[in-house]
Amino acid sequence: MNKINWNFENSYSELPNTFKQKINPVPVKNPQLVLYNSKLGSELNLNITKVSEEELSKLFSGNSLPDGSSSIAQAYAGHQFGHFTMLGDGRAVLIGEHLSKNNKRYDIQFKGSGKTAFSRNGDGRAALGPMLREYIISESMNSLKIPTTRSLAVVKTGENVIRETSLPGAILTRVASSHIRVGTFQYIAARENIDELNTLVDYTIDRHYPEIKNSNNQALDLLNHLIDKQCDLVVNWMRVGFIHGVMNTDNMTISGETIDYGPCAFLDTYDPKTVFSSIDKTGRYAYCNQPVITKWNLARFAECLVPLINKNKDESIKIATEAVNSFEIKYEKKWINMMREKLGLFGLDDKDKFLILDLLTWMHEKKADYTNTFCHLMNLGPTEDKLYNDIDFLNWKKRWENRLSKNKDSLEKSMKLMRKNNPLVIARNHKVEEVLRAAEQNDFNPINKFLEILEKPYDDQKNINDYQLPSSSSEKYQTFCGT
Ligand code: AMP
Ligand code: MG
Repeated sequence: MNKINWNFENSYSELPNTFKQKINPVPVKNPQLVLYNSKLGSELNLNITKVSEEELSKLFSGNSLPDGSSSIAQAYAGHQFGHFTMLGDGRAVLIGEHLSKNNKRYDIQFKGSGKTAFSRNGDGRAALGPMLREYIISESMNSLKIPTTRSLAVVKTGENVIRETSLPGAILTRVASSHIRVGTFQYIAARENIDELNTLVDYTIDRHYPEIKNSNNQALDLLNHLIDKQCDLVVNWMRVGFIHGVMNTDNMTISGETIDYGPCAFLDTYDPKTVFSSIDKTGRYAYCNQPVITKWNLARFAECLVPLINKNKDESIKIATEAVNSFEIKYEKKWINMMREKLGLFGLDDKDKFLILDLLTWMHEKKADYTNTFCHLMNLGPTEDKLYNDIDFLNWKKRWENRLSKNKDSLEKSMKLMRKNNPLVIARNHKVEEVLRAAEQNDFNPINKFLEILEKPYDDQKNINDYQLPSSSSEKYQTFCGT
């Protein structure tokens, strides 16, 4: 029965069998809905008012599948920490593509839904903590105005999963404009079947970039579009201090949405080399390396398109390489402009770069908190920190004020620009841990309160000091892959 208004169409599941495995979610023992995102539900035009909690739990666990669903696991490959591997949805299924009121198409995916043909040695399941973590951080990214997959619901399965210890199992309902990844292209390209590659390019353009449908070099245009999208995305990550943690090519979408919230975390103390993930031993996915890796991943995407860009392979490689190499200049320009906005600077001044870098160097040397330093410059945020009485900082601030005075626009406009670009609250690591611990003990009040605060990161909310202060612990924070 289609009880909550799902309006499914299943274009991806109609692609050739190579692209997917038809498979239903594996039922779970005792599903219990623990989080439902009613705002997102409304955006999707869903209506749950007449449906019991029990029925919703069945619906969001896959124990009962809605009408019109055609459930599949998608095939893809990917470079994981630089090594090419065949992957695919090993613990997720796409239950359908929902068309909302404005005919916008959304993938509805269950993560933690049981074994598929792509599970390899995994159990196909997910633990509650990591699914709640993805919910918190993806929704916080959305509120920060950063393209991302969304989280609609979390259901406890009533089953345990075995990791290092036995943990409560859960299923996350993930909503995305699609789940096509760089890794999807790598998987198809590795098969060296030009028809399949054309099918994927056509499908992707129809779905994400219809404006280039009639271009005379679709593959090249697709590459250039993705370069721009991913450049914007990583600049946004840098803006708020987001560290993805596992930027493998299977975790890079073609839509330009942030995906796969495993070991990600937000920067607190400013150190460009920050790595939180326990498995990232070499710092491949460190904060400052994210643009470099974005370009690396784009080069892998370009390789997939070589057979389509030009009939002559050498010429094709030359064109693709040029496109990928344009990334650095684009990034540098967008990054400087983003930092200008964080500092409320209008117009261009050759010296802006030094002003920006000198602030970052000071923050690094003094171990200043990234988010709170910008809050301080806006005279907002948590209680005053004596760190900002430092003479070097005060001298820098004079230079900044001097530059601000050269703005053609008013100080008020500068402040507005800063307020739009500098969050007052982020999902701080110790807070994330705190609310997850409570939820694992069945207390969902802290997570719900946290989610409410994270929904308005740019607002000057009352009584949120506790959420804005960095952790008082000096212990290094570590994250683990969300398996
Ligand atoms: P991720 O690190 O989440 O990007 O996952 C990488 C690959 O491992 C994907 O193909 C996942 O579907 C698969 N995977 C991760 N965890 C599990 C699991 N518990 N069972 C089966 N496959 C998994
Ligand atoms: Mg992944």
